[in-house]
Amino acid sequence: MTDQSLVLLEHAKKSFGDTPVLKDLSLSVHKGEVVAVIGPSGGGKSTLLRCCTLLETLDAGRLAFGDLLVCEDGPDGRAVYGSKAVQKQAKERFGLVFQNFNLFPHYTVLKNITDAPLHVQKRPKDEVMTHARALLDKMGLAGKENMVPCELSGGQQQRVAIARALALNPDVLFFDEPTSALDPELTQDVLKVIRDLAAEHMTMVIVTHEMNFARDVADHIVFMDGGIIVEEGPAADLINNPKHERTRAFLSKYE
Ligand code: ADP
Ligand code: MG
Repeated sequence: MTDQSLVLLEHAKKSFGDTPVLKDLSLSVHKGEVVAVIGPSGGGKSTLLRCCTLLETLDAGRLAFGDLLVCEDGPDGRAVYGSKAVQKQAKERFGLVFQNFNLFPHYTVLKNITDAPLHVQKRPKDEVMTHARALLDKMGLAGKENMVPCELSGGQQQRVAIARALALNPDVLFFDEPTSALDPELTQDVLKVIRDLAAEHMTMVIVTHEMNFARDVADHIVFMDGGIIVEEGPAADLINNPKHERTRAFLSKYE
């Protein structure tokens, strides 16, 4: 295998009951690359992220994080997953940020960020605390470490969620509509943090409805509809010069 992808998904298929939601979908994400996934609601974007992050299992297909093979088709054409140990290793390679923040409501900001590094990764306390404070600073949240999530705005909570994901030192961050639950002003604060991460060459896969953001920040855009990638390409090309009628129709709603 010569492919240098950090995330490589090949021929992914996933159905819920009789409904196919991912239909032979392939995606590769290289180190330092920012990939935006756009498309209409119900197109399978969240399912794609949930399969990449092992929250759902593929019916068929192959998923690898760098040299770590998570699953591939068995002799009967159904995906066979690696051992629990392999899946645990895979989960250490990525972070995931949801639409609704998903912070622990009774934990302080600092505990939300440090809990997994301390108790799952079992890293030294001094190092974890120093890292967490540096991340809070970077997210514009210095001084908020002893607050609980309900004392923060949605935008601040989402920035805590991003700090929490980064605290685990992931190779790649997945975002599922990170600003969809936010007011426009708070959206900009969160997008700025993601732009800063992109400038530092953090590898990211971002499902978003923010087309200007996708065009400016992503290297590559994937347009998904009906469980397939209808069209993909360099960000500016895809937004400014979509080739497929379905892509054009979708983008015209954002003009
Ligand atoms: P998107 O994120 O692009 O809006 P989703 O991946 O959430 O799309 O959903 C794609 C399709 O899969 C939708 O028709 C949705 O109803 C269906 N779906 C998603 N998750 C489940 C589930 N757990 N059980 C049954 N159907 C689901
Ligand atoms: Mg979704």
